[in-house]
Amino acid sequence: MLEIDGLDVHYGGVHALRGLSLTVAEGEIVALLGNNGAGKTTTLAAVSGLVRPSGGRVVFDGREVTREKPHRITARGLVHVPEGRRIFSTLTVHENLQLGGYLLRDRAETRGRIDRVYELLPRLAERRAQQGGTLSGGEQQMLAIGRALVTGPRLLLLDEPSMGLAPLVVASIMELIAGINAEGTSVLLVEQNATAALKIAHRGYVIENGACVLDGPAAELRQDARVVEAYLGGV
Ligand code: ATP
Repeated sequence: MLEIDGLDVHYGGVHALRGLSLTVAEGEIVALLGNNGAGKTTTLAAVSGLVRPSGGRVVFDGREVTREKPHRITARGLVHVPEGRRIFSTLTVHENLQLGGYLLRDRAETRGRIDRVYELLPRLAERRAQQGGTLSGGEQQMLAIGRALVTGPRLLLLDEPSMGLAPLVVASIMELIAGINAEGTSVLLVEQNATAALKIAHRGYVIENGACVLDGPAAELRQDARVVEAYLGGV
């Protein structure tokens, strides 16, 4: 479904991605792990068109999308939930969800999708008139993911959804992601919390200095001595 092939990204003199390659198959959750500055956020930004690669290709559903405009990529069903949640804090929960439908011409379809998000996330339904900025961190993350769902993704790019959340809240966000995946949406999941990510992922990649250094089924990565030492706190 997604193929990243030999991707290079430069920020001025910083060579952030160095020939990075990875794939996500239909129906998979793929975890992208790595330390601060390894290039995880840059990978998602290059796939969703927010950053222009200097080399390599991104192919989605058999069609090259490298250098396509971000809104065109979103319209194809490849939807990015960036780091830091980026919800609109002065808009209500409901208004934030409505913005997820900005690419849809059909208002009834937007309403139907918002209703499905409320069914999936009753906490958001209860808070539909509340300002986004007054939600808890976990609720804001749910709203960011809910807004992406209104767009109708076939592949979700999630950037550190667990960031800054308490362990129980992390567990419920991971459960949400697994549930969305079980209904047919593929997921590329960037996480510093390798333990949480490898619990729900099918496969994973470890990146260092802008390139993949290790990949495999999540169950194998959980046992891999290098992963355990570097990313699972040596447990
Ligand atoms: P983190 O987990 O800390 O978010 P990351 O793995 O997502 O890290 P990136 O944010 O992709 O890493 O950064 C990769 C490299 O590119 C880093 O060296 C970073 O300093 C650099 N970088 C990222 N964005 C920019 C930018 N806009 N301008 C210059 N350098 C950048």
